[in-house]
Formats: sequence, structure tokens, C-alpha cells
Amino acid sequence: MSVYKESGKCKYLVAMGCLVKRYKEELEKSMPEVDLWISLDEYDNFWIKIEQMLKISSPKNDLLDYEKRVITTGDTTAYLKIAEGCSNYCTYCAIPQIRGKFVSRPMEDILKEANKLADKGIKEIIVIAQDTTKYGTDLYDKNGKLPELLSKLEKIEKIKWIRFLYAYPESITDELIELVKNSNKICHYFDIPIQHRSDQILKRMNRKTTGEDIENLIKKIRKEIPDAIIRTSLIVGFPGETEEDFEELYSFVEKTGFDKLGVFAYSIEEGTPAAKMDGQIHFNTKKARRNKIMSLQQKISNINLKSKIGNTYEVLIENITADGKYYMARSYMDVPEMDGVCWIKNSKSLKIGQFAKCKIVDVLEYDLIGELI
Ligand code: SF4
Repeated sequence: MSVYKESGKCKYLVAMGCLVKRYKEELEKSMPEVDLWISLDEYDNFWIKIEQMLKISSPKNDLLDYEKRVITTGDTTAYLKIAEGCSNYCTYCAIPQIRGKFVSRPMEDILKEANKLADKGIKEIIVIAQDTTKYGTDLYDKNGKLPELLSKLEKIEKIKWIRFLYAYPESITDELIELVKNSNKICHYFDIPIQHRSDQILKRMNRKTTGEDIENLIKKIRKEIPDAIIRTSLIVGFPGETEEDFEELYSFVEKTGFDKLGVFAYSIEEGTPAAKMDGQIHFNTKKARRNKIMSLQQKISNINLKSKIGNTYEVLIENITADGKYYMARSYMDVPEMDGVCWIKNSKSLKIGQFAKCKIVDVLEYDLIGELI
């Protein structure tokens, strides 16, 4: 970046985010070319700080106005943040320290933003928070309000698909499963980061669920919603993870056949309890365990994808290749940038943002190939 500043292409450099809150002093020393540092708790004063930097003044702080929100995820899909922070205190995670305790946004405020997004042509809303399933527990009711919020979002006519990500397993209630099952807008897609299967590791991680709870939850979702896509994320090589713990996790992944899975080798987060735990695992062991699960999942993914051949899905047309030969689309089974896509031969003229029906005719490593019907 300093190259751009020196050449005059970049006039001001502003850095903002989690790191600024945590390491401002160190960052200031190592990156003197940055003109302004804005940490997470200063976002509300964002515009004021910019004005101070530019030495100008504006009568109105309008950056928080939803009308003016810049959607960086294209013309069809938008993320909708419903809460900030987290109160789960998993021992490996620094988010509660960086972002603070879990705080829900008022429901009217979220619905107002969702309506504005719909008016702008957004068709798919992806509901996010550090812990979406706890929505409303701090503000309204200890049992949470995610089902009510989703039901209200469903009523926005122009929104066709709704998803929620990062669902903490212990808070996925029967009410929520039932709502997803009976909805024709909420995608049959559950993103449930389980992290591990071994009880002793889950306990050391300060997770609230046992391996058995997780297993029962997945069985329940699959029984109630047979076409549900289940995504998870795992951490291997957590301090104290024995060979037996790892094998337990491996067998669980093999048996469950998650549709989508991300696996991370544990890495120390400064200031977290896990960083000081005994039983830290050697880097090579962590890497080997991660690779072992990844190659298992690759086989599972391939089997899962091939099982879709011959099926028909509704897809959202998101883009077209430069040569115009293929549309890039997504079905309910895929989250943008996290999962695969569906490539569809351009056999009729379609608009970006339009829904279409396609039949799956082949698969690639992570993507589907479809034909319009
Ligand atoms: S891992 Fe997720 S649930 Fe756990 S403390 Fe971090 S943000 Fe919260």
C-alpha cells in the first residue's frame, strides 16, 4: 500500500476491523503509512473520524443509513447481520474479547433493513451473527427469537431465499427445525459448527454440547428434512487431543457424511484459555490430522455430489461466463463463496437474479453441471 501512497494513486489509507482494536499500538508502529485506524467499537463514529481526517464537515452522519448501504455481494444476495459479539467463550476463540458480549439488533431494525434490501432487488438474504441461534436471548426472551425473526423475513414478498449461518448446535430447537421444514423460502441448509465429537475435547473447548447431543441433532434434522444440507466445521489438534479423540472424530465424519465440511488445524489465539493449556500438539501432527479428514471429506463430497445427478433444482442465476457459454448459478445447497456452484449451459436467455429450473447432468470436484429445463 505504501507504494500506492508514494505514487500518489492512493491519497488516504484507512484500516478498520478487529485487529485494530487488539493491536493498534503495534500496527501504528509497523504501518506508519496508514492515516486513520478505526476499531470495531468506533464504527458508529466512522464518518466523524473520516471528516476529522479530511478536515471537512458534513451535517449528517449517514453511513449507517440502510438506503446507502453498499452491497458487496452482488445484485442478488446480501448478508443481514442480526447480532454482534458472542457470550459462549469457547476456550480457543478470541471473538468475545474482541467483539464483546452477544448483543442482538432490535427486530424492527433488522426487518427495516431487509425490506430495503428487497426493494433494491435482493432475492436471497443470508442471516448472520457470531451465534445466530441465540438471536433475541439478550433482548427479548431467554428461549431466543430466531424462528420469529425468520417467519417475519419470510413475509417480505420480494425475498425468495433466506438462509441462516453459524447455528450453535445446542440452540437448534425443534421449533426452528419445524419452521425450516415447512418453509418454502428458508433454505433446507444447516450450517452447524460442531468443532469436535470427543466429549473430553468438547469440554476443554467449553462447548455446551456433548458428542451424543450433536449426533442426535443431526439424526433429527435428517429425519425431519431428508433433503437438508448439513455443513460443519471442525478443529483438529486442539490441546490434549489424543489419537483416540482424533479417531473418534474421524469415524464420526465417516459415518455422518456431512454434505459440506471445513477443517482447521488448531492455532493459538493470544489471550485465550486454550493458548495456555497443556498438551499442545505438534504442528506436523495437527497438519497430518487435518489432511486425513480433508481427504476423507473429499471422497464423501464426491459421493454426495454424484447422488444429485438426475435431480432437478431451482437455481438462482448469478453470473455468465465471459464467452457467454455458461451461466453460473446456485441451488439451495450452496452458500456463496463457501460452497460450490452449478454451471449451466446457456441454452436460453436468462437474466442475472432470475430463478430457473435445471437438471443435474454431471459433477466436478465441488461443483454441479446442469441443463436448463
Ligand atoms: S467459536 Fe463461535 S461460539 Fe465460540 S466463542 Fe467464538 S464466536 Fe462464540
